[in-house]
Amino acid sequence: MAKYSLRLAYLYPKLLNIYGDSGNVITLQKRCGWRDIDLIVDEIEENDNIAENLYDLYFIGGGQDKQQIAASKALMRQKEPLKIAQENNAVMLSICGGYQLFGKYYLAQNGDNLEGINLLDVYTQAGQERHIGNVTAQCLIEQVGSLVGFENHSGLTYIEENSQTKPFAKIEIGAGNNAKDGFEGAYKKNVFGTYLHGSFLPKNPKFVDYMIKTALMRKYFENIELKPLDDLFANSAHENLLNKKY
Ligand code: GLN
Repeated sequence: MAKYSLRLAYLYPKLLNIYGDSGNVITLQKRCGWRDIDLIVDEIEENDNIAENLYDLYFIGGGQDKQQIAASKALMRQKEPLKIAQENNAVMLSICGGYQLFGKYYLAQNGDNLEGINLLDVYTQAGQERHIGNVTAQCLIEQVGSLVGFENHSGLTYIEENSQTKPFAKIEIGAGNNAKDGFEGAYKKNVFGTYLHGSFLPKNPKFVDYMIKTALMRKYFENIELKPLDDLFANSAHENLLNKKY
């Protein structure tokens, strides 16, 4: 039996899974498995209830406005266990459409106002243009360093001033949250939101390990050093995007 085990809730994979978002869950599973850490993944669908305090990690991907309507309703029904998870420092990653719904609201192009569950003090309004392309950014969590990914969104996201939500990264190339303030993503406690698809995690092994380490230390109350892995391919995918001539 593995010394450590973690459990992840994969929220709404049927509704929200574009640009390879499910690859993020595979990456978490692989990087845990290679270190003899068990990662159990439970897929949570639209009408499922989320058990309170069962999960160490949560993941939600991106999707189009139409799928976001159903996801918003499902999330609102499960707001309580998700809020408790955040309060108890569970590690949660939300991408693009999921990120928007982890905020206060997403005001769509057609005027629909999709309610968010307010884990992050951000709000999003659909803009006039789509921001599509590769992104490079510097993560504002120091030990993570550079981030790379691919964005495709028209939503413009703003972090509320004087809130406990902080920007996740500083943009070098790309639009990020709103193409204006130079920030990409947001985080509060261990809840992270980002516009980066791609998949995001296979190309950013340092952030995956940050998530795994944070989740393990929270569960086991001990200082844990993750065994280094051979990251030749992950690093070369990362470097390739970082050093691309745009
Ligand atoms: N529908 C949202 C937008 O365009 C989210 C898109 C996505 O998840 N890629 O802003």
